[in-house]
Amino acid sequence: MKSPLLAALAPGLCVAIACCISAANPGLALDDAKEQAESLKLHTFIQQAFTYPAGEARNKGENQRAIALYQRAIDEWKAQNYKDQWSIDNQRCQLCDAMRSQAGVYQHLGNYEEAARLYLQSDKEWRKRGGNMGFNTQLEAGRIYVQGKIFDKAAQIFNEVIQSGRPDEQMNAHIALSQSYEAQDKGKQAESELTAMLANKEFSNQPYMVRTIRTQLKQLYVNQHRPDDVAAIEKALDAKVCPVCKSSQDVIPIGYGLPGAGMYQASAKKQMHLGGCMVGPGSARWWCEKDKIGF
Ligand SMILES: [Zn+2]
Repeated sequence: MKSPLLAALAPGLCVAIACCISAANPGLALDDAKEQAESLKLHTFIQQAFTYPAGEARNKGENQRAIALYQRAIDEWKAQNYKDQWSIDNQRCQLCDAMRSQAGVYQHLGNYEEAARLYLQSDKEWRKRGGNMGFNTQLEAGRIYVQGKIFDKAAQIFNEVIQSGRPDEQMNAHIALSQSYEAQDKGKQAESELTAMLANKEFSNQPYMVRTIRTQLKQLYVNQHRPDDVAAIEKALDAKVCPVCKSSQDVIPIGYGLPGAGMYQASAKKQMHLGGCMVGPGSARWWCEKDKIGF
């Protein structure tokens, strides 16, 4: 990261900006450099005048004031008409950050309709300015609709993502749809939304998706007080059989977290595979040494 100043100025969503900076052309045109300096100055001004006070107002429970201050930040960023790419990227980050922060206040106030609308709007602004985050913002908007029990709008979004998203986004949409059914006391539909994925090759070929879906299914069974089904899913999650070679001969456990001396030793002896520090519902439990695959 070449610019600690910028890193300090741009929290949250805007980690990506640091990359733009380090990739900046060393022979930057003077006009672009000038525009960057101006946009950085505006950046600082908006943070000081609107974004920070908005956060403080929110923390003090002054929600309407927070909403108004975020709106000022949104308006300021929207009003800029940049040409240089760095400034456009920065503007996109800051604008959408402010919109989502404002959405967060509405969500806190129980105005889920407005919060979801702002999320969808922020995605439109993001794309308009050359960004692409896939369907993740739509999925978030859909989850907010579920929170507000606006189930028809949520379903519309989830089905859209199922039609057009990447496989991982499709999976998340199915999971969100299942949770939406659960919130409507439609237990059967919640279950079949998940089990259908396990029968679909598009998902069942991906070990991390299978784990993610099974983990979700286990939670559903826990909620539905079905101990036998919980036990069956746990057994499937623990199964030490490689999906490629269908055997457990070269299968070793995966260890997560910052490895200590013991883990390094076990790894050197091929008794354990180091899985890194990130653990999620789809994180593999076993590693096949022969096929170099986690499952
Ligand atoms: Zn194998």
